[in-house]
Amino acid sequence: MATKKSKRETSVESSGIYHQALDRLERAADHLDLPEDVRERLRRPEQIVQRSIPVRMDDGSTRYFDAWRVRHNSYRGPGKGGIRYHPGVDAEVLKSLAFWMTIKCAVVGLPFGGGKGGVQVDTRAFSPREKEELSRGYARLFSGAIGPDIDVPAPDMGTHGEVMGWMMDEYSQVVGKRTPAVITGKPLEIGGSHVRNGATGLGAHFCLERLAERKGWDPEEGGMTVAVQGLGAAGRRIARLLAGAGYTIVAVSDSGGALYCEKGLNVEGVIDAKKRAGGFENVKVTKTKGLGRGRVRKLTNETILTLDVDLLVLAAVENVITDENAMKVTASTIVEIANGGVSSTADRQLEKQKTFILPDVLVNAGGVAVSHLEWVQNRTGYYWDEERITNDLRDRMVRSFDEVYDRSIEEKIPMRVAAYVQGIERIVDG
Ligand code: NAD
Repeated sequence: MATKKSKRETSVESSGIYHQALDRLERAADHLDLPEDVRERLRRPEQIVQRSIPVRMDDGSTRYFDAWRVRHNSYRGPGKGGIRYHPGVDAEVLKSLAFWMTIKCAVVGLPFGGGKGGVQVDTRAFSPREKEELSRGYARLFSGAIGPDIDVPAPDMGTHGEVMGWMMDEYSQVVGKRTPAVITGKPLEIGGSHVRNGATGLGAHFCLERLAERKGWDPEEGGMTVAVQGLGAAGRRIARLLAGAGYTIVAVSDSGGALYCEKGLNVEGVIDAKKRAGGFENVKVTKTKGLGRGRVRKLTNETILTLDVDLLVLAAVENVITDENAMKVTASTIVEIANGGVSSTADRQLEKQKTFILPDVLVNAGGVAVSHLEWVQNRTGYYWDEERITNDLRDRMVRSFDEVYDRSIEEKIPMRVAAYVQGIERIVDG
């Protein structure tokens, strides 16, 4: 063990988040008894490309933005993973995110490896023209690192369908032919796919439906409670689907605050109130009409994590449950939609508490699963309707859930370790 650790310390730069990603790799690799050279291959991204993107700003100045594309692994196919516009982006963060994509794609059996890209930028004050120039600059400068058979980007934090459209157009101009399969998450009218928007929440719901079946839960009977941290795109979708399935959503939060109602919140009411007030911190709970079935109270963001609920859905940011607060978590199940929502150091504490975790690399794979269908449709030129895509997504999520769940029971390992073992075995076996 000591030898493995010292080798790892010399092979990877010190970084909290990447070390955490590798901790999980080591645990699964130990379970599989993987040889050192295979571990080393998986610890190292295959390629990191860095560029500086010039953008002519509306005030006439030119600014330069650091940008990267990381391809972690391509054993199972081209890299796959989003492009993030955020001031916190750097090569280390992207290495971790690309590593998780490698594992995730393998866990759900997609013919992709892992990739991730990003620009260190805050585009909130950008005009649409400035954002377009940045996006086209990214596609042009990274045109050698991406491609339908090399590495296929998608939206991530700070990017969206329109950005994907600009990038697809720019890449097509560089290579001299229309190439929709270079990027996924595009608007429907230029080669996007039905179901891509909201696919992550829907995929998580399919996993939860199966978990309920396997555990014999009956949410329709009532009494199963849920707290959702992060009522953004994925959080809204899963909250709506769970409420529709009979769960009682007792708490929701965003970056500004949280709302709680013991008898159950009205999901549409709180989504609407958040939109109108610009965030939960500005929502007035004195006027609770439409917000819940009883008295609605405000909670702190930290309190929502420790509520005594059946399901705690993490749909905000990474490293929310750490070794500092893990022992206060009383939810029996964590649904980790946020990548890295639980830190690797918190895993052991949660295991001791017998908290069941639906890990990120399984439960949030719905987005990339539908991205795969978009890529297939773009390559064949044959487009499917919503029903076919929904059915395909359900089949993949249920099948992947069953594989990981069965493995976890048969090999007496937690769900996260079982997911990593499943994914790594597929990568290694080709
Ligand atoms: P989003 O930006 O739409 O929503 C994030 C929400 O989290 C926002 O409402 C924000 O206010 C809230 N938030 C941020 N910090 C918070 C805090 N400390 N406490 C409470 N709430 C907080 O993002 P999204 O697309 O819904 O993604 C959510 C998470 O799911 C991210 O971690 C993302 O990596 C992961 N994920 C998303 C997708 C997808 O397709 N959307 C796919 C895979 C993984």
